[in-house]
Amino acid sequence: MAKKVQDALKDLVSLCKRRGFIFPGSEIYDGLANTWDYGPYGSELKRNIKDLWWRKFVASRPDVLGLDSSILLNPKVWQASGHVGNFSDPLIDCKACHERFRADHLLEEKLGEGCTVGKNFQDIAAMIVENQIECPSCGKKDFTEPRAFNLMFQTEIGVVEGAGNKVYLRPETAQGIFINFRNIIDNVRPKMPFGVGQIGKSFRNEITPGNFIFRTREFEQMELEFFCEPGTEVEWYGYWKKFCMNWLLQDLGITSKKLRMREHAPEELSHYSNGTSDVEYEFPFGWGELWGIASRTDFDLTQHQKESKVKQEYFDPIANKRYIPYVVEPSLGVDRLLLVLLCDAYDVEKLSDGEERVVLHFHPSVAPVKAAVLPLVKKGKVKEVAESIFQNLISRFNVEYDETQSIGKRYRRQDELGTPYCITVDFDTIGEGDDVDLSKKGKVTIRDRDTMQQELVAIEDLEDWLAKRVR
Ligand code: ATP
Repeated sequence: MAKKVQDALKDLVSLCKRRGFIFPGSEIYDGLANTWDYGPYGSELKRNIKDLWWRKFVASRPDVLGLDSSILLNPKVWQASGHVGNFSDPLIDCKACHERFRADHLLEEKLGEGCTVGKNFQDIAAMIVENQIECPSCGKKDFTEPRAFNLMFQTEIGVVEGAGNKVYLRPETAQGIFINFRNIIDNVRPKMPFGVGQIGKSFRNEITPGNFIFRTREFEQMELEFFCEPGTEVEWYGYWKKFCMNWLLQDLGITSKKLRMREHAPEELSHYSNGTSDVEYEFPFGWGELWGIASRTDFDLTQHQKESKVKQEYFDPIANKRYIPYVVEPSLGVDRLLLVLLCDAYDVEKLSDGEERVVLHFHPSVAPVKAAVLPLVKKGKVKEVAESIFQNLISRFNVEYDETQSIGKRYRRQDELGTPYCITVDFDTIGEGDDVDLSKKGKVTIRDRDTMQQELVAIEDLEDWLAKRVR
């Protein structure tokens, strides 16, 4: 990780560890570079993201079906899809210090916004020389020619080593959908146009992983393959671009000025695409891809038909036509979106008393903890009432109970977890003790994380009050 980037992300990475969102992988054995484990709050955040995506893109849409295909597929799948021949990045070595880099990334870093690095290796080699690219490790300008480095991880199936049973860990979930297209149209019989969505792990042996969880070798994807009649793909491509952007802005509440849609130049397009856009987010280390939305033509299904000899055509009984559908694919990384949500939510605020508070302004629907129940004293009836409120809420929401430390410290802890509401129970709630305000009996005080305003809510209304705000 470059120094500049390390500084920009340092505070967030340390908050993530301190508060149990994300831990460095294999830490007790000195770690394993660029691997991360999601802790109690990170795993909850991740689950919320996947649930929200599934609900929006699959479950609530009559035109989208779900799938859960294998990570290990017959290697012929990857030959047909072009991944064996084409799924590679341009690798260059520094001849002086022998560090390895992605040539296109070095160029993009040097040339900045708006530069287009194509896929032709000869052009890339010429650009490295022309732009006097320096090795980020030692500063020399002496690189090898770029060569193709295939990103697929290989392993072997079965108990006999070297018996020619090589398989790949999938580098995308999409092919699992394409190879089940025939199964789906024969057995489930959806009408065109329709989509198939899937969430699952993918693996890429990235040359330069880094920037925390931005680029890792093991990650999760949420992919939708939307099949449509040839000739309608431009319309659907436009539809999904808008749909995806709206979800980020309206449902997840991501800051609009930090999001943009970038259309790929023709020389950037993958071999299967006739149009691709990236939704990009302005991370602390600069703009980076969040979501790839590609019009994938009929490339994949045509290839699988050719290689497997199994027909991939759809028969439209109304129009009495047979065709191989075109596909529009919005492909989003779960970990990438999680990083966007963390960066977007993270804030250090100066308070009126001169103190600072670190807060994660998560949208309530993604927040890992929806509310915290905080009794002002940890004994007697106040505690009893607080515990019963907590027991009642936990059957429906992910809530916490905390009676340790001062109320101020408990608020700070919940702010750092991004908990939108803190529910306090005090002597007024139980209507007992000196100077109690009897008009507050049977009510709790709810503190809003963002405004820090307090509101009184009757205990019997609490469940509905919360349900309206966190779903
Ligand atoms: P790049 O060119 O940056 O390597 P890509 O264009 O190959 O990425 P896609 O194949 O379009 O990426 O992947 C779809 C989505 O999957 C990306 O938008 C991103 O959200 C996620 N993704 C891809 N690679 C990684 C990775 N190594 N780590 C985390 N998420 C990833």
